[in-house]
Amino acid sequence: MKSSRITFFLGLAGFLAVSVVFGTAATTADAQNKMTPQKAFEALLEGNDRFVHGLASHRDLSAEVEQTSTGQYPLGVVLTCLDSRTAPETMFDQGIGDLFVGRIAGNFAADDMIGSFEFAHKLAGAKVLAVVGHSSCGAVKGACDGAKMGNLTHTLAQLSPALDAVPASVQPRNAKNAAFVQKVADANVRLTVERVLDKSEVLRDMVKAGELGVIGGMYDLNTGKVTFYKDTAHGLKMPK
Ligand SMILES: [Zn+2]
Repeated sequence: MKSSRITFFLGLAGFLAVSVVFGTAATTADAQNKMTPQKAFEALLEGNDRFVHGLASHRDLSAEVEQTSTGQYPLGVVLTCLDSRTAPETMFDQGIGDLFVGRIAGNFAADDMIGSFEFAHKLAGAKVLAVVGHSSCGAVKGACDGAKMGNLTHTLAQLSPALDAVPASVQPRNAKNAAFVQKVADANVRLTVERVLDKSEVLRDMVKAGELGVIGGMYDLNTGKVTFYKDTAHGLKMPK
């Protein structure tokens, strides 16, 4: 093999090794400091794009455990449903220490959840908050049908403002009507974004100061794609 070829292959191997190492490195304090809300939002968009196209990072989770053992510097917070198909780390191709995650059936934000967000953003430095609902949500369907069972009754009652937000012209108003279910899920995301900002002076002030971006979106169970809603964006711009 000629030396130029050897150099090329060594160079390529080095490039790949560096890509692998840095491609899965956990977010550092320095990276979090330098990250703007917009950049954190774009990191989520890029991660979802990799996930949708089958290009998710091959992570060395053991190395990430080691890197994050002395501290965490996540880029954002993602609120999703309890649904087993809607893990934020997977849909946004993020690793250990990259995201704070809030999960509850129906991805709404009660006061305790909002308090957790205040910790994640104000005290731990996360730059973006994404509220992500999903298509064909069982919790939303349960709310649409007025399902009652044990403590779940109370959980699903939190979705009633979203049911009320869908115009009365949308009929029939039950889980058999997929269009109605999706409109309730959309309304729930919008209302949740509004509620978080309405209830949290801490987070409102951070948005005003350019320290935090908040946005809502929807995960499609069929494609894995997250579509963010421009009208829910606070302190963020939709990339062109
Ligand atoms: Zn769900």
